[in-house]
Amino acid sequence: MSIIIQKFGGTSVADSEKILAAARRAIRAQSDGHQVVMVVSAMGKYTDRLIELARQITDDPPDREMDMLLSTGEQMSVALMAMAIHSLGRGAISLTGSQIGIITDSIHTKARIRSISTERVRQALDEGNIVIAAGFQGIDESANITTLGRGGSDTTAVALAAVLGAEACEIYTDVDGVYTTDPRVVPAARRVERISYDEMLELATAGAGVMHGRSIEFAKKFGVPIHVRSSSSDSPGTMIVREPETPDKAVCGVAMVKNEARVTVLGIPDRPGAAMSVFFRVAARNIALDMIVQNEAADGRTDLSFTVFSENLPGTLRAVEEAVKELGAEGYSCDENVSKISVVGLGMATRPGVAGMMFRTLAEKGINIDLITTSVIKISVVVAREFAQEALRAVHDTFELHVPPPVGDDRAALPVPAPIKPSGAELVARLQRMEKLIIEDIQLDRSQARVTFLGLPDSSGLAARTFDELAEAGVVVDMIVPSMGRGKRVDISLTVPREQLPQTLKAATELTAALGCPPPEHNPSVAKLSVLGVGMRSHAGVVARIFQSLADAGTNVEMISTSEVCVNVVVDGRDGQKALTALKTEFADAML
Ligand code: ADP
Ligand code: ASP
Ligand code: MG
Repeated sequence: MSIIIQKFGGTSVADSEKILAAARRAIRAQSDGHQVVMVVSAMGKYTDRLIELARQITDDPPDREMDMLLSTGEQMSVALMAMAIHSLGRGAISLTGSQIGIITDSIHTKARIRSISTERVRQALDEGNIVIAAGFQGIDESANITTLGRGGSDTTAVALAAVLGAEACEIYTDVDGVYTTDPRVVPAARRVERISYDEMLELATAGAGVMHGRSIEFAKKFGVPIHVRSSSSDSPGTMIVREPETPDKAVCGVAMVKNEARVTVLGIPDRPGAAMSVFFRVAARNIALDMIVQNEAADGRTDLSFTVFSENLPGTLRAVEEAVKELGAEGYSCDENVSKISVVGLGMATRPGVAGMMFRTLAEKGINIDLITTSVIKISVVVAREFAQEALRAVHDTFELHVPPPVGDDRAALPVPAPIKPSGAELVARLQRMEKLIIEDIQLDRSQARVTFLGLPDSSGLAARTFDELAEAGVVVDMIVPSMGRGKRVDISLTVPREQLPQTLKAATELTAALGCPPPEHNPSVAKLSVLGVGMRSHAGVVARIFQSLADAGTNVEMISTSEVCVNVVVDGRDGQKALTALKTEFADAML
């Protein structure tokens, strides 16, 4: 019999009526002939209330005790849900994470799933029960209760769908699908019919709170189709699958992380691997660095900027202080009041000009960009928090995201294609790894050149002008890595196809001359290495391992850009093969 997973978020079980409505929905699915597993979150804002209670006792509660506390929210709601189903005349059993056999690592408050035993769930289903699983929780090998991180019930649901081979994984929430951006912030946002795993993964980690990012990692790994729907209506919702809604649209959505902090480590001695010490020390505290931008060396020293979620700032600064001492760096600075705005779309990989359009939009609003990072399908910028909402709206508008796919383009209405399931052996290999890091491929591209603008004035609109002029010269820019200069200057490094180097240099030289800046630097032959996988950013430490292995091989990193699904590093062309071998050796244990 086919299994269906139905996950209900906090607002969808906020009171007894909503619990009964959810129970009826599950019973309907059972009556349609499915075995049903419900995954339930804590009621309403109950988790927030528990966190607040802890805060009233102490500012720094032990993580283990936080997990003890937070897991009670879900324990309460699963019991109530089971009672609701009983009251409606069907069999049901509620199970905690530990009773289901969700084994995690021991990183309290953000544990990762290691394994799930399906025996008890299957038995309960075969006995005719609706199984009600507590979301967001598990136990570690010493039977300590763990939780998976805020919003983690989505991950419980998709993980259960994967191990049970479920036919569908339905996520019931308080919006009727995934929108082009948070509809509460931008009312013009449009619901999309479907979205690809890669796009959703990038959007989720860029701040689209509708799905827990790690749940999409699971979905992608195991080919689980996810159906995001409203718990209060029967509207069609959004399918998260392998294929995008419209493959040729450059941008599918925009997102914002409101509370980020930017940290810059100043004056790091420029020797291979020095920056690594910062990465390792932050990773050791289980904090994932977000945007990472490394400066070209000046006077034998480099600056390294990155962002972290605001809640991780205290731990990050402790790590940074240690690293500064160890390295003999000059110090650090930080800005606590920044936000990150990202645009995401599979189509941008093949369409030039997206970066320029985004920068132009912000420039026209007079909004200054502090940091930029790009990946193949995402461009993120850091702006002052006071301008973040305005920036989000403006960018949403520029890319006309409110406009549905053109009439006559009925791709969006096509039936959702079946997900591409991994083969039997591959699935077993993936199941054994559950939430472990998976590296799918490491690629070497030797067809590009690097051009670096030095000391551009850091004025609003300059990035836009630079990219406009390059676009006009017909240049297809691949990676863009600007670095926050000191004072009012920025350096911007780009990679372009080597055959376009002459026109790039021509346009760049004209621009720098007009601005009174030094002429651009370049490297006619660079090697770009792309490490592709799942969980690249959410596994703290991947970037540190990349830097370490390249430093050990005596290779200097000229540029780096990171995203959920890909880390790109640029090294000198002569080092390409050596770097490829070093990375393949480093990640041999994570390659499929
Ligand atoms: P649940 O409790 O059901 O897990 P969440 O609050 O975690 O619900 O997620 C739903 C919320 O996500 C919505 O209310 C909406 O404000 C927000 N959201 C952010 N970005 C998006 C987006 N791109 N599409 C839809 N909702 C979004
Ligand atoms: N109750 C948890 C939270 O509020 C988990 C979840 O809802 O997904 O974060
Ligand atoms: Mg949620």
